[in-house]
Amino acid sequence: MNTVLSSLNLQQKNSGTFSSTWLNSTQAKEIVSYSPIDGATLGAVEITDDASYEIVLKNSQDTFLKWREYPAPKRGEIIRLLGQELRNNKEGLAHLITLECGKIYSESLGEVQEAIDIADFAVGLSRQLYGLTMHSERPNHRMYEQWHPLGPVAVITAFNFPLAVWAWNACIAAVCGDTIVWKPSELTPLIAVAATKIAEKITSQFGFAGVFSLVNGAGAEVGKKIAADKRFPLVSATGSTRMGREVGQVVAARLGKSLLELGGNNAVIVMEDADLNLVVDSIAFGAAGTTGQRCTTTRRVFVAESIADSFTKALIDKYKKLIIGNPLDSTTQIGPLINAQAVKAFEAAIIRVNKEGGQVLEGGNVIKDLYVEPTIVAATPEMKLVEEETFAPIVYVMKVKNIEQAIALQNAVPQGLSSALFSDSIKYSEYFLSTAGSDCGIANINIGTSGAEIGGAFGGEKDTGGGRESGSDSWKIYMRRQTNTINWGGRVVLAQGVKF
Ligand code: NAD
Repeated sequence: MNTVLSSLNLQQKNSGTFSSTWLNSTQAKEIVSYSPIDGATLGAVEITDDASYEIVLKNSQDTFLKWREYPAPKRGEIIRLLGQELRNNKEGLAHLITLECGKIYSESLGEVQEAIDIADFAVGLSRQLYGLTMHSERPNHRMYEQWHPLGPVAVITAFNFPLAVWAWNACIAAVCGDTIVWKPSELTPLIAVAATKIAEKITSQFGFAGVFSLVNGAGAEVGKKIAADKRFPLVSATGSTRMGREVGQVVAARLGKSLLELGGNNAVIVMEDADLNLVVDSIAFGAAGTTGQRCTTTRRVFVAESIADSFTKALIDKYKKLIIGNPLDSTTQIGPLINAQAVKAFEAAIIRVNKEGGQVLEGGNVIKDLYVEPTIVAATPEMKLVEEETFAPIVYVMKVKNIEQAIALQNAVPQGLSSALFSDSIKYSEYFLSTAGSDCGIANINIGTSGAEIGGAFGGEKDTGGGRESGSDSWKIYMRRQTNTINWGGRVVLAQGVKF
Protein backbone atom coordinates (compact mmCIF):
# COMPACT_ATOMS: atom_id res chain seq x y z
CA MET A 1 0.00 0.00 0.00
CA ASN A 2 2.75 2.44 0.92
CA THR A 3 4.47 1.84 -2.42
CA VAL A 4 1.24 2.76 -4.22
CA LEU A 5 0.87 5.92 -2.17
CA SER A 6 4.46 7.01 -2.69
CA SER A 7 4.35 6.23 -6.43
CA LEU A 8 1.51 8.76 -6.61
CA ASN A 9 3.25 11.30 -4.34
CA LEU A 10 0.79 10.76 -1.52
CA GLN A 11 1.61 10.87 2.17
CA GLN A 12 -0.18 9.51 5.20
CA LYS A 13 -1.50 13.05 5.76
CA ASN A 14 -2.26 15.21 2.76
CA SER A 15 -3.46 18.67 2.07
CA GLY A 16 -6.93 18.45 0.56
CA THR A 17 -6.86 21.86 -1.07
CA PHE A 18 -5.08 22.75 -4.27
CA SER A 19 -5.13 26.23 -5.73
CA SER A 20 -2.03 26.54 -7.96
CA THR A 21 -0.25 25.32 -4.86
CA TRP A 22 -1.20 22.98 -1.99
CA LEU A 23 -2.75 24.87 0.92
CA ASN A 24 -2.73 23.81 4.53
CA SER A 25 -5.85 24.11 6.58
CA THR A 26 -5.81 26.21 9.75
CA GLN A 27 -8.29 23.83 11.34
CA ALA A 28 -7.31 20.30 12.22
CA LYS A 29 -10.28 18.64 10.55
CA GLU A 30 -9.46 15.82 8.18
CA ILE A 31 -11.08 12.96 6.33
CA VAL A 32 -9.57 9.57 7.08
CA SER A 33 -9.72 7.21 4.13
CA TYR A 34 -10.37 3.56 4.99
CA SER A 35 -10.13 0.72 2.54
CA PRO A 36 -13.41 -1.21 2.16
CA ILE A 37 -11.28 -4.29 1.42
CA ASP A 38 -10.17 -4.79 5.02
CA GLY A 39 -10.81 -1.55 6.90
CA ALA A 40 -7.14 -0.54 6.77
CA THR A 41 -6.40 3.15 7.13
CA LEU A 42 -5.04 4.35 3.81
CA GLY A 43 -4.27 7.94 4.74
CA ALA A 44 -5.88 11.25 5.61
CA VAL A 45 -6.81 14.38 3.70
CA GLU A 46 -7.39 17.80 5.25
CA ILE A 47 -10.81 19.35 4.89
CA THR A 48 -10.83 22.69 3.09
CA ASP A 49 -11.49 25.53 5.54
CA ASP A 50 -13.35 28.76 4.70
CA ALA A 51 -10.19 30.81 4.12
CA SER A 52 -8.73 28.23 1.72
CA TYR A 53 -12.03 27.93 -0.10
CA GLU A 54 -11.91 31.67 -0.79
CA ILE A 55 -8.33 31.41 -2.07
CA VAL A 56 -9.38 28.60 -4.43
CA LEU A 57 -12.29 30.58 -5.82
CA LYS A 58 -10.30 33.79 -6.31
CA ASN A 59 -7.45 31.93 -7.97
CA SER A 60 -9.81 29.94 -10.17
CA GLN A 61 -11.45 33.17 -11.33
CA ASP A 62 -8.08 34.85 -11.99
CA THR A 63 -6.71 31.84 -13.85
CA PHE A 64 -9.87 31.73 -15.96
CA LEU A 65 -9.13 35.24 -17.32
CA LYS A 66 -5.79 33.99 -18.73
CA TRP A 67 -6.88 30.47 -19.64
CA ARG A 68 -9.80 31.62 -21.79
CA GLU A 69 -7.34 33.69 -23.87
CA TYR A 70 -5.04 30.73 -24.43
CA PRO A 71 -6.07 29.19 -27.78
CA ALA A 72 -8.30 26.14 -27.51
CA PRO A 73 -5.96 23.81 -29.49
CA LYS A 74 -3.15 24.81 -27.12
CA ARG A 75 -5.41 24.01 -24.18
CA GLY A 76 -5.91 20.69 -25.97
CA GLU A 77 -2.16 20.13 -26.05
CA ILE A 78 -2.04 20.44 -22.25
CA ILE A 79 -4.85 17.89 -21.98
CA ARG A 80 -2.93 15.60 -24.35
CA LEU A 81 -0.01 15.69 -21.94
CA LEU A 82 -2.37 15.11 -19.01
CA GLY A 83 -3.68 12.01 -20.81
CA GLN A 84 -0.09 10.86 -21.26
CA GLU A 85 0.65 11.36 -17.57
CA LEU A 86 -2.47 9.36 -16.68
CA ARG A 87 -1.13 6.59 -18.93
CA ASN A 88 2.22 6.73 -17.12
CA ASN A 89 0.40 6.30 -13.80
CA LYS A 90 -2.29 3.89 -14.95
CA GLU A 91 -1.36 0.96 -12.70
CA GLY A 92 -0.74 3.10 -9.61
CA LEU A 93 -4.02 4.96 -9.98
CA ALA A 94 -5.93 1.73 -10.63
CA HIS A 95 -4.39 0.15 -7.56
CA LEU A 96 -5.42 3.13 -5.45
CA ILE A 97 -8.97 3.08 -6.87
CA THR A 98 -9.26 -0.57 -5.85
CA LEU A 99 -7.86 0.14 -2.41
CA GLU A 100 -10.06 3.17 -1.77
CA CYS A 101 -13.38 2.24 -3.40
CA GLY A 102 -13.10 -1.55 -3.57
CA LYS A 103 -13.80 -2.23 -7.24
CA ILE A 104 -11.88 -5.09 -8.83
CA TYR A 105 -8.51 -4.18 -10.31
CA SER A 106 -9.57 -4.86 -13.91
CA GLU A 107 -12.45 -2.39 -13.54
CA SER A 108 -10.12 0.13 -11.90
CA LEU A 109 -7.77 -0.15 -14.88
CA GLY A 110 -10.85 0.41 -17.04
CA GLU A 111 -11.71 3.50 -15.05
CA VAL A 112 -8.25 5.00 -15.58
CA GLN A 113 -8.54 4.08 -19.26
CA GLU A 114 -11.82 5.99 -19.36
CA ALA A 115 -10.01 9.07 -18.03
CA ILE A 116 -7.31 8.61 -20.70
CA ASP A 117 -9.95 8.16 -23.41
CA ILE A 118 -11.77 11.34 -22.46
CA ALA A 119 -8.48 13.24 -22.47
CA ASP A 120 -7.88 12.00 -26.04
CA PHE A 121 -11.43 12.93 -26.97
CA ALA A 122 -10.97 16.42 -25.51
CA VAL A 123 -7.76 16.95 -27.50
CA GLY A 124 -9.67 16.44 -30.76
CA LEU A 125 -12.56 18.50 -29.46
CA SER A 126 -10.25 21.44 -28.79
CA ARG A 127 -10.21 22.00 -32.57
CA GLN A 128 -13.93 21.35 -33.01
CA LEU A 129 -15.81 23.74 -30.74
CA TYR A 130 -17.96 24.63 -33.70
CA GLY A 131 -20.75 27.14 -33.99
CA LEU A 132 -23.20 27.39 -36.89
CA THR A 133 -23.67 30.09 -39.50
CA MET A 134 -27.19 31.11 -40.49
CA HIS A 135 -28.57 32.98 -43.47
CA SER A 136 -29.82 36.40 -42.45
CA GLU A 137 -33.16 37.58 -43.80
CA ARG A 138 -31.63 41.05 -44.16
CA PRO A 139 -29.42 41.92 -47.13
CA ASN A 140 -25.71 42.40 -46.48
CA HIS A 141 -25.95 40.90 -43.02
CA ARG A 142 -24.19 37.86 -41.69
CA MET A 143 -25.35 35.76 -38.75
CA TYR A 144 -23.48 33.14 -36.85
CA GLU A 145 -23.13 31.66 -33.39
CA GLN A 146 -20.03 31.08 -31.36
CA TRP A 147 -19.24 29.44 -28.05
CA HIS A 148 -17.40 31.10 -25.19
CA PRO A 149 -16.13 29.57 -21.95
CA LEU A 150 -18.18 30.01 -18.78
CA GLY A 151 -15.74 30.57 -15.92
CA PRO A 152 -14.93 28.39 -12.92
CA VAL A 153 -16.95 25.16 -13.08
CA ALA A 154 -17.62 23.16 -9.93
CA VAL A 155 -17.42 19.37 -10.23
CA ILE A 156 -18.93 17.34 -7.38
CA THR A 157 -18.30 13.61 -7.76
CA ALA A 158 -19.54 10.32 -6.28
CA PHE A 159 -17.43 7.58 -4.69
CA ASN A 160 -18.06 4.88 -7.27
CA PHE A 161 -16.23 6.53 -10.18
CA PRO A 162 -13.70 8.50 -8.19
CA LEU A 163 -11.45 9.38 -11.15
CA ALA A 164 -13.41 9.01 -14.39
CA VAL A 165 -16.24 11.40 -13.58
CA TRP A 166 -13.80 14.18 -12.71
CA ALA A 167 -11.94 13.45 -15.95
CA TRP A 168 -15.16 13.51 -18.02
CA ASN A 169 -15.94 16.96 -16.71
CA ALA A 170 -12.47 18.37 -16.23
CA CYS A 171 -10.91 17.47 -19.60
CA ILE A 172 -13.87 18.75 -21.61
CA ALA A 173 -14.40 21.89 -19.51
CA ALA A 174 -10.68 22.68 -19.69
CA VAL A 175 -10.48 22.59 -23.49
CA CYS A 176 -13.63 24.72 -23.53
CA GLY A 177 -11.62 27.34 -21.60
CA ASP A 178 -13.14 26.92 -18.13
CA THR A 179 -11.28 26.41 -14.90
CA ILE A 180 -12.38 23.52 -12.70
CA VAL A 181 -12.87 23.22 -8.94
CA TRP A 182 -13.31 19.60 -7.88
CA LYS A 183 -15.07 18.41 -4.75
CA PRO A 184 -14.68 14.63 -4.63
CA SER A 185 -16.64 12.21 -2.48
CA GLU A 186 -15.51 12.18 1.14
CA LEU A 187 -15.19 8.39 0.72
CA THR A 188 -12.47 8.64 -1.96
CA PRO A 189 -10.38 11.73 -1.19
CA LEU A 190 -6.96 10.17 -1.84
CA ILE A 191 -7.65 9.44 -5.51
CA ALA A 192 -8.64 13.07 -5.94
CA VAL A 193 -5.39 14.26 -4.38
CA ALA A 194 -3.39 11.85 -6.58
CA ALA A 195 -5.17 12.94 -9.77
CA THR A 196 -4.76 16.62 -8.90
CA LYS A 197 -1.02 16.07 -8.36
CA ILE A 198 -0.80 14.48 -11.80
CA ALA A 199 -2.65 17.43 -13.33
CA GLU A 200 -0.47 19.88 -11.42
CA LYS A 201 2.69 18.32 -12.85
CA ILE A 202 1.49 19.15 -16.36
CA THR A 203 -0.33 22.45 -15.92
CA SER A 204 2.41 24.04 -13.80
CA GLN A 205 4.89 23.65 -16.70
CA PHE A 206 2.70 26.03 -18.68
CA GLY A 207 1.96 28.51 -15.88
CA PHE A 208 -1.61 27.25 -15.62
CA ALA A 209 -1.59 25.35 -12.33
CA GLY A 210 -4.81 27.10 -11.35
CA VAL A 211 -6.87 25.35 -14.03
CA PHE A 212 -7.58 22.25 -11.92
CA SER A 213 -8.26 23.08 -8.27
CA LEU A 214 -9.34 20.78 -5.47
CA VAL A 215 -11.43 21.24 -2.33
CA ASN A 216 -12.37 18.52 0.11
CA GLY A 217 -15.12 18.07 2.67
CA ALA A 218 -18.56 16.70 3.30
CA GLY A 219 -21.44 17.38 0.96
CA ALA A 220 -23.38 18.96 3.80
CA GLU A 221 -20.61 21.54 4.24
CA VAL A 222 -18.32 22.20 1.27
CA GLY A 223 -20.76 20.76 -1.31
CA LYS A 224 -23.63 22.94 -0.13
CA LYS A 225 -21.41 26.02 -0.19
CA ILE A 226 -20.47 25.31 -3.81
CA ALA A 227 -24.11 24.95 -4.89
CA ALA A 228 -24.96 28.33 -3.40
CA ASP A 229 -21.86 30.10 -4.74
CA LYS A 230 -22.75 32.49 -7.57
CA ARG A 231 -19.13 32.48 -8.73
CA PHE A 232 -19.78 29.06 -10.27
CA PRO A 233 -21.85 29.60 -13.43
CA LEU A 234 -22.10 25.80 -13.73
CA VAL A 235 -22.23 23.13 -11.06
CA SER A 236 -21.80 19.59 -12.35
CA ALA A 237 -22.95 17.16 -9.66
CA THR A 238 -22.82 13.37 -9.82
CA GLY A 239 -24.37 11.30 -7.06
CA SER A 240 -27.66 10.28 -5.53
CA THR A 241 -31.02 11.73 -6.55
CA ARG A 242 -31.35 13.08 -3.01
CA MET A 243 -28.16 15.10 -3.47
CA GLY A 244 -29.16 16.25 -6.97
CA ARG A 245 -32.52 17.49 -5.76
CA GLU A 246 -30.80 19.63 -3.14
CA VAL A 247 -28.05 20.94 -5.42
CA GLY A 248 -30.39 21.49 -8.39
CA GLN A 249 -32.78 23.63 -6.35
CA VAL A 250 -30.06 25.77 -4.78
CA VAL A 251 -28.33 26.37 -8.14
CA ALA A 252 -31.65 27.13 -9.87
CA ALA A 253 -32.58 29.65 -7.15
CA ARG A 254 -29.53 31.71 -8.11
CA LEU A 255 -30.24 31.10 -11.82
CA GLY A 256 -27.04 29.14 -12.32
CA LYS A 257 -26.71 26.11 -14.60
CA SER A 258 -26.47 22.63 -13.21
CA LEU A 259 -25.48 19.36 -14.83
CA LEU A 260 -27.01 16.58 -12.78
CA GLU A 261 -25.94 12.93 -13.12
CA LEU A 262 -27.97 11.05 -10.53
CA GLY A 263 -29.25 7.65 -9.55
CA GLY A 264 -30.49 4.98 -11.91
CA ASN A 265 -32.87 2.01 -11.71
CA ASN A 266 -31.88 0.26 -14.87
CA ALA A 267 -33.77 -2.56 -16.50
CA VAL A 268 -33.10 -5.33 -18.97
CA ILE A 269 -35.94 -6.77 -21.03
CA VAL A 270 -35.41 -10.38 -22.13
CA MET A 271 -37.68 -11.50 -24.96
CA GLU A 272 -38.43 -15.13 -25.83
CA ASP A 273 -36.02 -15.14 -28.79
CA ALA A 274 -33.04 -13.81 -26.83
CA ASP A 275 -29.68 -15.58 -26.86
CA LEU A 276 -29.61 -16.83 -23.26
CA ASN A 277 -25.83 -17.06 -22.99
CA LEU A 278 -25.50 -13.46 -24.06
CA VAL A 279 -28.23 -12.39 -21.65
CA VAL A 280 -26.91 -14.24 -18.63
CA ASP A 281 -23.31 -13.03 -19.03
CA SER A 282 -24.47 -9.47 -19.61
CA ILE A 283 -26.81 -9.45 -16.62
CA ALA A 284 -24.23 -11.03 -14.33
CA PHE A 285 -21.76 -8.24 -15.14
CA GLY A 286 -24.45 -5.55 -15.12
CA ALA A 287 -26.14 -6.59 -11.87
CA ALA A 288 -23.39 -8.16 -9.77
CA GLY A 289 -20.29 -6.50 -11.27
CA THR A 290 -18.85 -3.50 -9.38
CA THR A 291 -20.80 -5.06 -6.47
CA GLY A 292 -23.93 -3.40 -7.81
CA GLN A 293 -22.43 0.04 -7.25
CA ARG A 294 -22.70 1.59 -10.70
CA CYS A 295 -25.31 4.18 -11.55
CA THR A 296 -25.99 1.94 -14.58
CA THR A 297 -26.16 -1.33 -12.60
CA THR A 298 -28.91 -3.68 -13.81
CA ARG A 299 -31.48 -3.65 -11.01
CA ARG A 300 -34.58 -5.01 -12.76
CA VAL A 301 -35.06 -7.77 -15.33
CA PHE A 302 -38.33 -8.24 -17.22
CA VAL A 303 -38.36 -11.66 -18.80
CA ALA A 304 -40.89 -13.17 -21.20
CA GLU A 305 -43.02 -15.73 -19.35
CA SER A 306 -42.26 -18.55 -21.78
CA ILE A 307 -38.52 -18.53 -21.00
CA ALA A 308 -38.64 -17.19 -17.43
CA ASP A 309 -37.82 -20.52 -15.77
CA SER A 310 -34.90 -21.46 -18.01
CA PHE A 311 -33.51 -17.90 -17.83
CA THR A 312 -33.75 -17.76 -14.02
CA LYS A 313 -32.10 -21.14 -13.66
CA ALA A 314 -29.24 -20.12 -15.95
CA LEU A 315 -28.75 -16.85 -14.05
CA ILE A 316 -28.70 -18.65 -10.69
CA ASP A 317 -26.12 -21.13 -12.06
CA LYS A 318 -23.99 -18.22 -13.23
CA TYR A 319 -24.24 -16.43 -9.86
CA LYS A 320 -23.18 -19.58 -8.00
CA LYS A 321 -19.88 -19.47 -9.89
CA LEU A 322 -19.11 -15.79 -9.21
CA ILE A 323 -15.93 -15.29 -7.22
CA ILE A 324 -16.28 -12.90 -4.28
CA GLY A 325 -13.22 -11.68 -2.43
CA ASN A 326 -10.29 -9.32 -2.35
CA PRO A 327 -10.64 -7.06 -5.42
CA LEU A 328 -6.87 -7.01 -5.85
CA ASP A 329 -6.86 -10.75 -6.63
CA SER A 330 -7.00 -11.26 -10.38
CA THR A 331 -9.65 -14.00 -10.14
CA THR A 332 -12.07 -11.97 -8.00
CA GLN A 333 -15.21 -10.75 -9.74
CA ILE A 334 -17.05 -9.18 -6.82
CA GLY A 335 -15.36 -7.00 -4.19
CA PRO A 336 -16.77 -5.36 -1.06
CA LEU A 337 -19.45 -2.71 -0.70
CA ILE A 338 -18.14 0.75 0.09
CA ASN A 339 -19.02 0.98 3.81
CA ALA A 340 -21.17 -0.28 6.67
CA GLN A 341 -24.03 2.02 5.66
CA ALA A 342 -24.16 0.31 2.26
CA VAL A 343 -24.28 -3.12 3.94
CA LYS A 344 -27.17 -1.90 6.12
CA ALA A 345 -29.02 -0.72 2.99
CA PHE A 346 -28.47 -4.18 1.44
CA GLU A 347 -29.82 -5.91 4.55
CA ALA A 348 -32.80 -3.57 4.79
CA ALA A 349 -33.68 -4.29 1.15
CA ILE A 350 -33.56 -8.05 1.74
CA ILE A 351 -35.89 -7.71 4.74
CA ARG A 352 -38.28 -5.69 2.56
CA VAL A 353 -38.16 -8.34 -0.20
CA ASN A 354 -39.78 -10.79 2.16
CA LYS A 355 -42.24 -8.26 3.57
CA GLU A 356 -43.36 -7.10 0.13
CA GLY A 357 -43.98 -10.61 -1.21
CA GLY A 358 -40.78 -11.24 -3.15
CA GLN A 359 -38.53 -14.26 -2.80
CA VAL A 360 -34.76 -14.43 -2.60
CA LEU A 361 -33.69 -17.05 -5.15
CA GLU A 362 -29.95 -16.72 -4.74
CA GLY A 363 -27.68 -14.90 -2.27
CA GLY A 364 -29.24 -12.46 0.16
CA ASN A 365 -26.61 -12.75 2.89
CA VAL A 366 -23.79 -10.70 4.28
CA ILE A 367 -20.70 -12.87 4.04
CA LYS A 368 -18.41 -10.90 6.31
CA ASP A 369 -17.63 -7.24 6.99
CA LEU A 370 -18.45 -5.35 3.76
CA TYR A 371 -18.75 -8.44 1.54
CA VAL A 372 -22.27 -9.49 0.52
CA GLU A 373 -23.68 -12.14 -1.77
CA PRO A 374 -24.86 -10.99 -5.19
CA THR A 375 -28.58 -11.56 -4.97
CA ILE A 376 -31.37 -12.61 -7.32
CA VAL A 377 -34.93 -11.89 -6.24
CA ALA A 378 -38.18 -13.15 -7.79
CA ALA A 379 -40.26 -10.00 -7.66
CA THR A 380 -43.49 -8.43 -8.83
CA PRO A 381 -43.94 -4.91 -10.23
CA GLU A 382 -46.28 -4.11 -7.32
CA MET A 383 -43.36 -4.21 -4.86
CA LYS A 384 -42.45 -0.61 -3.90
CA LEU A 385 -38.86 -1.73 -3.39
CA VAL A 386 -38.29 -2.25 -7.10
CA GLU A 387 -38.85 1.46 -7.71
CA GLU A 388 -35.86 2.37 -5.58
CA GLU A 389 -32.13 2.31 -6.19
CA THR A 390 -30.45 0.20 -3.51
CA PHE A 391 -26.75 0.66 -4.18
CA ALA A 392 -25.91 -3.04 -3.81
CA PRO A 393 -25.91 -6.19 -5.99
CA ILE A 394 -29.61 -7.08 -5.90
CA VAL A 395 -31.48 -7.82 -9.11
CA TYR A 396 -35.28 -8.15 -9.25
CA VAL A 397 -36.57 -10.60 -11.85
CA MET A 398 -40.16 -10.10 -13.03
CA LYS A 399 -42.20 -12.02 -15.62
CA VAL A 400 -43.94 -10.18 -18.45
CA LYS A 401 -46.53 -11.21 -21.02
CA ASN A 402 -45.31 -9.14 -23.94
CA ILE A 403 -43.03 -6.31 -25.07
CA GLU A 404 -45.69 -3.65 -24.44
CA GLN A 405 -46.01 -4.64 -20.81
CA ALA A 406 -42.24 -4.91 -20.43
CA ILE A 407 -41.63 -1.38 -21.73
CA ALA A 408 -44.48 0.08 -19.68
CA LEU A 409 -43.08 -1.48 -16.50
CA GLN A 410 -39.53 -0.54 -17.35
CA ASN A 411 -40.57 3.10 -17.68
CA ALA A 412 -42.78 3.07 -14.60
CA VAL A 413 -40.06 4.13 -12.16
CA PRO A 414 -38.85 7.61 -11.18
CA GLN A 415 -35.36 7.14 -12.68
CA GLY A 416 -34.43 7.07 -16.37
CA LEU A 417 -30.76 6.28 -16.85
CA SER A 418 -29.97 3.03 -18.69
CA SER A 419 -32.01 0.27 -20.32
CA ALA A 420 -31.49 -2.73 -22.55
CA LEU A 421 -33.45 -5.17 -24.67
CA PHE A 422 -32.25 -8.66 -25.58
CA SER A 423 -33.86 -9.95 -28.75
CA ASP A 424 -33.00 -10.74 -32.35
CA SER A 425 -36.34 -9.37 -33.54
CA ILE A 426 -36.02 -6.16 -35.51
CA LYS A 427 -39.64 -5.38 -34.62
CA TYR A 428 -39.01 -5.57 -30.85
CA SER A 429 -35.73 -3.70 -31.19
CA GLU A 430 -37.13 -0.83 -33.21
CA TYR A 431 -40.15 -0.57 -30.91
CA PHE A 432 -37.86 -0.42 -27.87
CA LEU A 433 -35.83 2.39 -29.48
CA SER A 434 -38.89 4.29 -30.81
CA THR A 435 -40.57 7.28 -29.15
CA ALA A 436 -42.98 4.87 -27.52
CA GLY A 437 -40.12 2.73 -26.26
CA SER A 438 -37.53 3.22 -23.53
CA ASP A 439 -37.66 6.61 -21.77
CA CYS A 440 -34.03 6.37 -20.62
CA GLY A 441 -30.95 8.36 -21.63
CA ILE A 442 -29.30 5.09 -22.66
CA ALA A 443 -31.12 2.32 -24.56
CA ASN A 444 -29.16 -0.69 -25.78
CA ILE A 445 -29.89 -3.80 -27.85
CA ASN A 446 -28.20 -7.10 -26.96
CA ILE A 447 -25.76 -5.37 -24.62
CA GLY A 448 -26.19 -4.76 -20.90
CA THR A 449 -27.04 -1.55 -19.08
CA SER A 450 -23.57 -0.74 -17.75
CA GLY A 451 -20.17 -0.13 -19.28
CA ALA A 452 -20.77 2.88 -21.51
CA GLU A 453 -18.12 4.25 -23.88
CA ILE A 454 -16.99 7.86 -23.63
CA GLY A 455 -17.86 8.75 -27.24
CA GLY A 456 -21.60 8.94 -26.54
CA ALA A 457 -23.37 11.47 -24.34
CA PHE A 458 -23.84 9.89 -20.93
CA GLY A 459 -26.78 10.57 -18.61
CA GLY A 460 -30.45 10.03 -18.03
CA GLU A 461 -33.90 11.50 -17.67
CA LYS A 462 -36.44 12.08 -14.88
CA ASP A 463 -34.94 11.58 -11.40
CA THR A 464 -31.57 10.82 -13.02
CA GLY A 465 -31.33 14.57 -13.51
CA GLY A 466 -31.38 15.14 -17.30
CA GLY A 467 -27.65 15.97 -17.56
CA ARG A 468 -25.31 14.70 -20.28
CA GLU A 469 -21.58 14.35 -19.82
CA SER A 470 -18.72 12.88 -21.81
CA GLY A 471 -18.94 12.55 -25.62
CA SER A 472 -21.14 13.71 -28.49
CA ASP A 473 -21.96 17.41 -28.07
CA SER A 474 -22.04 17.35 -24.25
CA TRP A 475 -19.29 20.00 -24.33
CA LYS A 476 -21.92 22.66 -25.00
CA ILE A 477 -23.04 22.71 -21.36
CA TYR A 478 -19.56 23.94 -20.39
CA MET A 479 -19.82 26.98 -22.70
CA ARG A 480 -22.13 29.89 -23.34
CA ARG A 481 -23.63 30.40 -26.78
CA GLN A 482 -23.54 33.79 -28.42
CA THR A 483 -25.47 34.74 -31.56
CA ASN A 484 -23.76 37.41 -33.65
CA THR A 485 -25.22 39.49 -36.46
CA ILE A 486 -22.95 41.70 -38.56
CA ASN A 487 -24.31 44.41 -40.83
CA TRP A 488 -21.79 45.18 -43.56
CA GLY A 489 -24.27 47.01 -45.85
CA GLY A 490 -24.10 50.47 -44.32
CA ARG A 491 -27.85 50.99 -43.80
CA VAL A 492 -30.35 50.05 -41.13
CA VAL A 493 -32.59 47.14 -42.12
CA LEU A 494 -34.96 45.88 -39.45
CA ALA A 495 -35.96 42.24 -39.19
CA GLN A 496 -39.53 41.14 -39.92
CA GLY A 497 -39.90 44.12 -42.27
CA VAL A 498 -40.43 46.59 -39.43
CA LYS A 499 -40.27 50.28 -40.52
CA PHE A 500 -39.12 52.93 -38.04
P1 NAD B 1 -23.92 10.95 -2.76
O1 NAD B 1 -25.09 11.67 -3.31
O2 NAD B 1 -23.94 10.51 -1.36
O3 NAD B 1 -22.61 11.90 -2.90
C1 NAD B 1 -22.16 12.36 -4.15
C2 NAD B 1 -21.40 13.66 -3.97
O4 NAD B 1 -22.30 14.69 -3.58
C3 NAD B 1 -20.33 13.60 -2.88
O5 NAD B 1 -19.21 14.35 -3.29
C4 NAD B 1 -21.02 14.29 -1.71
O6 NAD B 1 -20.12 14.88 -0.80
C5 NAD B 1 -21.83 15.35 -2.42
N1 NAD B 1 -23.00 15.84 -1.69
C6 NAD B 1 -23.82 15.15 -0.89
N2 NAD B 1 -24.81 15.95 -0.43
C7 NAD B 1 -24.61 17.17 -0.97
C8 NAD B 1 -25.27 18.43 -0.88
N3 NAD B 1 -26.36 18.59 -0.14
N4 NAD B 1 -24.78 19.48 -1.58
C9 NAD B 1 -23.69 19.33 -2.36
N5 NAD B 1 -23.00 18.18 -2.46
C10 NAD B 1 -23.45 17.11 -1.78
O7 NAD B 1 -23.62 9.73 -3.75
P2 NAD B 1 -22.58 8.53 -3.60
O8 NAD B 1 -23.06 7.59 -2.56
O9 NAD B 1 -21.18 9.05 -3.51
O10 NAD B 1 -22.69 7.83 -5.04
C11 NAD B 1 -23.68 6.92 -5.38
C12 NAD B 1 -24.81 7.59 -6.14
O11 NAD B 1 -24.29 8.29 -7.27
C13 NAD B 1 -25.79 6.59 -6.72
O12 NAD B 1 -27.09 7.09 -6.58
C14 NAD B 1 -25.39 6.51 -8.18
O13 NAD B 1 -26.42 6.07 -9.05
C15 NAD B 1 -25.00 7.93 -8.44
N6 NAD B 1 -24.12 8.07 -9.61
C16 NAD B 1 -24.64 8.58 -10.75
C17 NAD B 1 -23.85 8.66 -11.89
C18 NAD B 1 -24.41 9.18 -13.18
O14 NAD B 1 -23.62 9.53 -14.05
N7 NAD B 1 -25.73 9.27 -13.35
C19 NAD B 1 -22.50 8.26 -11.85
C20 NAD B 1 -22.00 7.76 -10.64
C21 NAD B 1 -22.83 7.67 -9.53
